[in-house]
Amino acid sequence: MKRAMLHGVKALGRVGRASNTANAALLGEGLVEGPTDRATPRFPRRPSLPVSLVVAVIAWVSLAAWQALAIAGGYVTRDVPRGLKSGEYVLEVVEDAKLGSYGYSVHARVLDANGVARDVLATYGDADIEGDARLFARQRVAASVSFSEFSEASFSRYASKGLCARAKLTQATIVDGAGPISFVVSARCFARDVFDEFEGRGAALVRAIVIGDRSKLEEGGLYDDVKTVGLAHMVAVSGAHLSVVAALAGALLARARMPRVALSIALCLFYCAYAAFTGFSAPVIRAALMAAVVVSAIWGARRSSSLAALGVCVCVLLAVHPANALSLSFFLSAASTLGIVALAPLIQAWFEVAFGRRAETLCQTCALTTAANIPIAPVTACVFSRVPLMSPLANMIAAPLFTVFIAGGLVGLGLTALYAPVGKAILAAIIALAQALSVFLAALARVPFASLPCSADMWVVVTLSASAFAGLWAIWPRPTRARAVGVAAATALVVVACVVVAPLLEPDEIVALDVGQGDAILVKSEGASLLVDTGNQDAMLAAALARTHTPHLSGVAISHHDDDHCASLDSLASTIAGSCVYVARETYACPCDGCADLLAQARNVSGRQAVGLDVGDEIRVGRFTCRVVWPRAFSDAGGNADSLCLLVSYESEAGPLTALLTGDAEADQIEKMAQSGGTGSSGAVAVNVLKAGHHGSKAGMTPKLAQGLSASIALVSCGANNRYGHPAQATIDALEAAGTRVFRTDELGDIACVFSREGIEVRPQYASGVALE
Ligand SMILES: [Zn+2]
Ligand SMILES: [Zn+2]
Repeated sequence: MKRAMLHGVKALGRVGRASNTANAALLGEGLVEGPTDRATPRFPRRPSLPVSLVVAVIAWVSLAAWQALAIAGGYVTRDVPRGLKSGEYVLEVVEDAKLGSYGYSVHARVLDANGVARDVLATYGDADIEGDARLFARQRVAASVSFSEFSEASFSRYASKGLCARAKLTQATIVDGAGPISFVVSARCFARDVFDEFEGRGAALVRAIVIGDRSKLEEGGLYDDVKTVGLAHMVAVSGAHLSVVAALAGALLARARMPRVALSIALCLFYCAYAAFTGFSAPVIRAALMAAVVVSAIWGARRSSSLAALGVCVCVLLAVHPANALSLSFFLSAASTLGIVALAPLIQAWFEVAFGRRAETLCQTCALTTAANIPIAPVTACVFSRVPLMSPLANMIAAPLFTVFIAGGLVGLGLTALYAPVGKAILAAIIALAQALSVFLAALARVPFASLPCSADMWVVVTLSASAFAGLWAIWPRPTRARAVGVAAATALVVVACVVVAPLLEPDEIVALDVGQGDAILVKSEGASLLVDTGNQDAMLAAALARTHTPHLSGVAISHHDDDHCASLDSLASTIAGSCVYVARETYACPCDGCADLLAQARNVSGRQAVGLDVGDEIRVGRFTCRVVWPRAFSDAGGNADSLCLLVSYESEAGPLTALLTGDAEADQIEKMAQSGGTGSSGAVAVNVLKAGHHGSKAGMTPKLAQGLSASIALVSCGANNRYGHPAQATIDALEAAGTRVFRTDELGDIACVFSREGIEVRPQYASGVALE
C-alpha cells in the first residue's frame, strides 16, 4: 500500500548587500537631468510630464472606448461586407499563419468588389494549398475563397482586431510578388530553411526570437517553460523584448564610446534587418519605432523629450490603425517602453543601493527588465492567470542573451547567404547557447512555486498597475538601505502568506474545475491537494487553479491517456515540483502509443517516473483518503474503460462521506467497481458524490446504476455547447429519477463540494451555495 506524503517548502526572501555609494551613471549621463547635490549621492531626477504623452493616453482611452462601444453597440455588424462575394481572390498575408487544431488561420487583406481593402481571417488546411503550407507575413496567395461571418461568441474578439469576416481558402497557390517585399519574403523563407537544418529547443528558441517564427516553440513543452518563468513577452513578437534588447545594446555601445553617428547607423541597420526577418509585420514595425525611442533616451536626449517622442509615436500608430487601441501586443509594446524611459534610472538607483555599485552592469540589466515589466507584469499575469515569481531572475539572465541571439542570429543568417560554412558555424554556436538557456529555463520552471496562480479582473488589474506607475512617478522615492530592506521583506511576506498560509485556511473540498470539455477534479484538504486529470486547456486550468487558491499540487493522478484528461499536464511543471504523477500500474505494461506518451509526459513534467497504482492502493490528501477501485486489468489499451477510478472517503460525525471519481469509465465498469469497492460493511454501493462517468454520456449511466449508487450529488464535467452532446439527457433523467442533484461545469463553472463534520455543501462558481445532507 502506498502513501503519498506531503511536503512544505519554505519561501526565502533574500536581501542583497547594501551600499551607500549609490551613484547613478545611469545609461549614460543623458538620463540624469538638472543639477546634482554634492552632499548626497547623485540621484536621477524625475522626468517632467510631457504633454504629448498625456495626449497619447487620452487618445488611446477614447479610441478604445469608441471601438468597444461600436462593437458592443452593434455599429460594427457581424454581416459579411457586401463587396465580399465568394470567388477567386488574391490575398496579402499580414501576419505569420498560426497552426491550430482545425488547421491554419492567418490575418490577411483582400480587395473587395468596390476596391476597398478588407481584413479577414483566412483559414485553410494542408490540402488546400500548394507548396509550403505555413504562410508568412507579406506573402501573396491566390485562392478560391468563400466568406462567412464570425460566430456570435468569437465576433467581438475578431472585430476588435479589425477583422470583418472569415475566409475559407481552397486551391490556394503562393504568388510571387515584386520588388523589395518579395525579397523580404524570400529572405525569410531562406532563414526558415536554414533553421530547419538545426534540431532541438535551442534552435526553436533562436528561430522564434530572430525571425518571429514560433511554429517550433510548442514542441517539447518549451513554450510552457517560457510562460512559467515569465518570459512569454520576450518570445512573442510584441516588441516588449525589442525595447529591452535595444536599451541593452544601446547602453553597451554607448559605453564603448562609439561615435554617435556610427551608433545611429548601426542601430538603424539592426532594426531594418530585424523588421525584414520578422516579415515587416505590424507589431514589429511599431516595436522598432518604440525601440528607437528608447535608444534616443539613452544617448543624448533628455528623458522628457523621449517621453514626448513616445507620445507622438503612440498617437501616430493609433491614427494609422485604430484597432491598435484594443490590441494587447500594442499595449505591451507601448507600456514596456514607457516603463523603461520613465522609470529605469529610478529603479537602477534602488538596485545600486541594494546590491552595491560594483555590480553596475547587473544593476543596469535588472533595472531595465524591472522597469519594462512594472507596467506590463500585472496584465500578463491576468492573461496567463499566473504570477511568475522566477521572472526577475529569468529576465536578468535571458535579456542579455536575447540581445546576443538577435544580433548573432542576424549576422549568422547574413553570412550563411554569402559563405555558408562560416555563417552556419556562428548559428550553431548561438543555438548551442540557446540550448543551454532552455535547459536552465526548464530547471527554473520546475522550482516549486516558480509561478503562482492568480485570478483577477483585467480592469481592476490595469487600474492598479496604472496607479502604481503614477504613484512611483509622483513620489519618486529616494532609495535608502532601510527602505530597500523594507520593500524586500514586505515582498517576501506577501509571497509567504500566499504560498504557505492561504492554502491552510481553505476548507476540505472536492472541486470539479471548469476546464471546458475535459476533466479536472481537485481534492484538497489541510494544505494538500491532488488533481485528478488536467483537461486540455492550459489557460483554463491555470485560471481554475488560481480561483481555488492552489499554488502547489501534492500530486496529479491521470485517469487515462485521452487528450481531454492529460494534455495540460505539461503546463504544470512548477505547480507539481517535487510531487508525483499517478497512473494505473498497467499503463507500464500496455504496448499502445497513448500509454507510452502519457508516461513520457509524466516523466518530463515531474522529473521522475510516474507512480503506478493497483486496486486497493491509497493516496492520502489531508483528511481525504483516495482508494483505487479501478482498473483491475486493462481491457481497452488504457482507454475509457480502463480509467483509473478513485473512491474518496472522509470521516464526518455522521459517519464516512464518499465520492467516486470515475474518469471516462462507463456504466459497465462503474457497476463492477461499485460492487467490489462498496463503501458500507455489507458491500453497499451507495456514494454521496458521483463524478459522472465519461462527461455524462449516454453510456455512462443506467437508471438501475443511478438507483444503486443513490448519490445525492452528481458532478458533470463538460464544455458549453460541446460537439459530443455531453451530458446526455437520458443520463440526467436517470440521475434525477434516483434523487440525485446534477451540477454541470458548463452551466455553473467550478463546482466545489465542501466536506465538513456536518456534511457536504455544494458551492458552484456562478450560483449561491446549496446545503445538502
Ligand atoms: Zn474524456
Ligand atoms: Zn495503452
